[in-house]
Amino acid sequence: MNEQIKNEFYSAYLYLSMAAYFHRIGFDGMAQWMRVQAMEEQVHAMKFFDHLNDREGNVQLLALDQPPVEWSSPLDAWQAAYKHEQFVTGTINDLMKLAHETGDYAAIPLLNWFVEEQIEEEASAAKPVQQLEIIGKDGKGLLMLDREMGARTFIMPPQGGKGE
Ligand code: FE
Repeated sequence: MNEQIKNEFYSAYLYLSMAAYFHRIGFDGMAQWMRVQAMEEQVHAMKFFDHLNDREGNVQLLALDQPPVEWSSPLDAWQAAYKHEQFVTGTINDLMKLAHETGDYAAIPLLNWFVEEQIEEEASAAKPVQQLEIIGKDGKGLLMLDREMGARTFIMPPQGGKGE
């Protein structure tokens, strides 16, 4: 679970780096979307943090890798985001398998939440990939999608992400 806390904070780091990239190339809407996503990832990390603490585990904040700083296009960045979410889904599945194998039933409701969350996370990264493939190099289409994605806002869950 300490490894998963790291994975979630790394996700926040990666998406913040993507936010900076999108700002740099003039896509402030996608940057806003990524900023919100980065905050959600911190909430995810805190769910594992709280779970470990509540069960008298030892939280250890592991070192984060440096995320990439550059992507070749918005499509390239969204493909990387989608791939990363598939990786995270794999780590959640591994934890679920471990919880079953070790009889850690208390972890299963938490992990179930993440299993469902990952369906959404993968879908919400896959959609821009699909739409950008349709749009291609059409500037008007790109700006429309960017504006649409900029509407996303962050809502802090109660108890700093601990409750549901
Ligand atoms: Fe996450």
